[in-house]
Amino acid sequence: MAKPVILAVDDEPQVLNAVERDLRRHYRGDYRIMKATSGQEALETVRQLKRRNAPIALFLADQRMPVMSGTEFLAEARKLNPDTRKVLLTAYADTEAAIDSINAIGLDHYLMKPWDPPEQMLYPVLDDLLSDWQATVPLPYDGIRVAGTLWSPSCHRVKDFLARNRIPYQWLDIEKDAEASELVESVSPEQIRLPVVFFPDGSVLVEPNNRSLAEKCGLQTQATEPFYDVIIVGAGPAGLGAAVYGASEGLRTLMIDKEATGGQAGTSSRIENYLGFPNGLSGADLARRATAQAQRLGAEIVTAREVAEVRVEDPYRIITFGDGTELVCRALVLATGVSVRMLDVPGVKALTGAGIYYGAALTEAAHYRDEQVFVVGGANSAGQGAMFFSQYASKVTMLVRADALEKSMSQYLVDQIRATENIEVMLQTEVVEALGENRLEAITIASNEPGGTKTLPAAAMFLFIGAVPHSELVAGVVQRNSAGFIVTGPDLIQSGRRPKNWKLKRDPYILETSVPGIFAAGDVRQGAIRRVASAVGQGAIAISLVHQYLKTV
Ligand SMILES: Cc1cc2nc3c(=O)[nH]c(=O)nc-3n(C[C@H](O)[C@H](O)[C@H](O)COP(=O)(O)OP(=O)(O)OC[C@H]3O[C@@H](n4cnc5c(N)ncnc54)[C@H](O)[C@@H]3O)c2cc1C
Repeated sequence: MAKPVILAVDDEPQVLNAVERDLRRHYRGDYRIMKATSGQEALETVRQLKRRNAPIALFLADQRMPVMSGTEFLAEARKLNPDTRKVLLTAYADTEAAIDSINAIGLDHYLMKPWDPPEQMLYPVLDDLLSDWQATVPLPYDGIRVAGTLWSPSCHRVKDFLARNRIPYQWLDIEKDAEASELVESVSPEQIRLPVVFFPDGSVLVEPNNRSLAEKCGLQTQATEPFYDVIIVGAGPAGLGAAVYGASEGLRTLMIDKEATGGQAGTSSRIENYLGFPNGLSGADLARRATAQAQRLGAEIVTAREVAEVRVEDPYRIITFGDGTELVCRALVLATGVSVRMLDVPGVKALTGAGIYYGAALTEAAHYRDEQVFVVGGANSAGQGAMFFSQYASKVTMLVRADALEKSMSQYLVDQIRATENIEVMLQTEVVEALGENRLEAITIASNEPGGTKTLPAAAMFLFIGAVPHSELVAGVVQRNSAGFIVTGPDLIQSGRRPKNWKLKRDPYILETSVPGIFAAGDVRQGAIRRVASAVGQGAIAISLVHQYLKTV
């Protein structure tokens, strides 16, 4: 936490320097001493400190200043920082003004000039005020603050990005917090764009994209080399598995993710079936551990960058980012995973991020405390989501298309859901419409039950309805099936024939795609078992196959 500030304000340089000197002598260990030569300059300093959330313990202002007197400055500064202690420096003739100010602006004390000796005339008064301030005013949050509204999709994106990159932040809801609203207006009074992200160094980003946010937060967004032995696209469990093995086995390894490390697993509230963690662990914890492990072993990790294209210039594999920059490698591992399928019914698109969320959206759960929320889907991820939200919401209703949860969910989760009082399961039910002006207010569902279609109030709806592979980056480069999943290994051999354009005298290795030296691991592969352990295992196997491939080129 930065030291609290004592701000001295005086237009006479000699007096200001003398105040500063005496303040520094006594308070420099615990406070930061700042000075301003006019009321206006001091107000600007206060605004800047406020943007940084830096605490101001005390204003010490001379009453006699042209344009803005000491009391006028303190009256304005009080609006911005009501808790800061206020002291006026006065001459004999100002005593009346000072006494009036005690009531008018809540002046804490007035001091006569000169204040010599400070040990008797200055420090005892200020010590008293400062210890009172320390005892009664809580220190402000000293990290990144995100100000916005709960119903804004870009606010959700920014919060999600920070959370998934494990960067702590404080959320300021400008609809509930007048001070936060003023702070946002002070940044761009003409046109308010949200969210506004305030950093402890005083800088501000308005509606930032993931890359600028990542750069500002100190995440690596650029590769340090133009060339690597192996590039891994995707930093979910498969990518992390590959990065750990690649780096530990001496390959120059780069892993790239468009968002954060951890992938889908990173969004999971509790993974109970991953080997070695008998009490389960959260996806964020797993991602943090695996990321640290990969980095310690020497893997380079770039986040907030999306790979747009892949091309082959034998013997090299080249990846291109959205901005056209390229990187070259000898072997490529595609570990780009899947994302949840979009729900294509009226109202959903417009309200996505404003009460409707894809996946677990853990960052939003606490906002729905004591409200009724819906979880759509019947697989394990939906079950975990329902269990997680049941800790916050008054009631969680699961809408499942199948006629039994057991059809697509592990038995341990089915048992947990049945044992949780505030989870209701509606089988053979679908969402047909989402309703709401600026945020989700209700949903219409259709079921086989008598009554058929009905509209129910809904604070939030979390969707877990199947997966779409992230494989567009290799469209037309490697073979994909009709759903877009990447075909690998034995699946590429059709009627005993190797894939088209395959020139090698061997079959594709088990995780190799239709292009030699490009491998796929994890959920993006056709036929993948969608589990953390199998993704990690495939990442490791992919690296062993990379070694075999590199021996031949
Ligand atoms: C909510 C939830 C709970 C789950 N719980 C469990 C569980 O308890 N146990 C279990 O075994 N499994 C669980 N799973 C499944 C498991 O998380 C997945 O099988 C696993 O994460 C797949 O790993 P992956 O690395 O293949 O892909 P992903 O985890 O999907 O990671 C792929 C990564 O690639 C990145 N990416 C995609 N395209 C690009 C691109 N063009 N450029 C750069 N980066 C890109 C993405 O941003 C993503 O981070 C759960 C899944 C979800 C969604």
